[in-house]
Amino acid sequence: MKKIGALEAGGTKMVLGVFDPSGRELERLTLPTQTPEETVPPMRAFFDRHGVDALGVGSFGPLELNPASPAFGAITSTPKLAWRDYPLLDALRGDRDIPCALDTDVNAAVLAEAELGAAQGLTDVVYVTVGTGVGGGVLSGGRLVHGLLHPEVGHMLLRPHADDPNPRGVCPYHDCCLEGLAAGPALGARAGADARTLPDDHPAFIIEADYLAQMCVNLIVTLSPQRILLGGGVMQRRALFGMVRRRVLELLNGYVQADALLNHIDTMIVPPALFPVSGLVGAYLLGKRALQARDAQPA
Ligand code: ADP
Ligand code: ZN
Repeated sequence: MKKIGALEAGGTKMVLGVFDPSGRELERLTLPTQTPEETVPPMRAFFDRHGVDALGVGSFGPLELNPASPAFGAITSTPKLAWRDYPLLDALRGDRDIPCALDTDVNAAVLAEAELGAAQGLTDVVYVTVGTGVGGGVLSGGRLVHGLLHPEVGHMLLRPHADDPNPRGVCPYHDCCLEGLAAGPALGARAGADARTLPDDHPAFIIEADYLAQMCVNLIVTLSPQRILLGGGVMQRRALFGMVRRRVLELLNGYVQADALLNHIDTMIVPPALFPVSGLVGAYLLGKRALQARDAQPA
């Protein structure tokens, strides 16, 4: 039986899995993300021990995903300095001749949700994680979106809320970007407490919902997704969903005339079904695709 290795590489932890081709998970390993020198050898050892036949990776970024680039498969300009310009895919593959695939953690997640989760059968889907940071993966016309680079939904620019005491946000790169305004730490800072401890009716959630609704509106008017999945720690606050949906309809003001939006928004903006393993399952699917592509090649 062939085995497929999967890795969801995150800024705080690495989640590794080994799957059979039917998607059954055989073993899982979670490691803290330290430096590449500390963290990569045990990851390689895990995949070696299983003798995996293919490897799929969903990683934090930004990533070099252009196969024509000599740096293909590297983490590039990340603020996590130890991982900057690190050739992640090459380091994991080592000298093994196995098919490998890499995409962003959130593109992996949207793939998993579209194949096996909360967006099955849909071709145009966005998955956004709102946690320590904000990231979004995009499936458009059934394909994961890459182009210039890959989507960087977390850095879309927003209009500051009139009541926001910190209207420029905390992104070191941009004023008023989504991540700087709406990630968990920004939410907590606005309220002066850990976001997890706030009551549902705390005013900070009104501002949070406005930012997430602006994001949804921008996604709707540019990508025309059939569904938007909102995951990550902050979205474990289920009360946010109703607030975001209402604010989306207010902001759109009837302009986008789609039944799914106007009459069924509670099934259009929803939590992911596979959270918290959407990214890991997506990495498995990427690895499986790489294996199928290799097997389809003439010998
Ligand atoms: P990461 O992005 O590092 O993977 P998470 O997705 O778990 O981590 O997100 C962590 C963030 O989510 C923290 O800022 C935390 O305060 C926030 N968070 C977690 N649970 C809740 C909750 N129930 N309500 C509001 N914020 C939450
Ligand atoms: Zn930014």
